[in-house]
Amino acid sequence: MSRSDGFQHFPPPPPEPVPGCETCAGFVAQERAAVAAFDRSAASDARVYLHRHLGEAHR
Ligand SMILES: [Zn+2]
Repeated sequence: MSRSDGFQHFPPPPPEPVPGCETCAGFVAQERAAVAAFDRSAASDARVYLHRHLGEAHR
């Protein structure tokens, strides 16, 4: 699968949480709360954690 947007978005969009997974939902909630609080570093941390969790638990 390839997308040709022509340019890279930054920060990258959050990864897709898996429906029904509480861990995914927790990271998404954490990211939303951080965004709402204008805490960009916490938001990007949450994205990284979700990404890592997706790679480890949902392969
Ligand atoms: Zn999950």
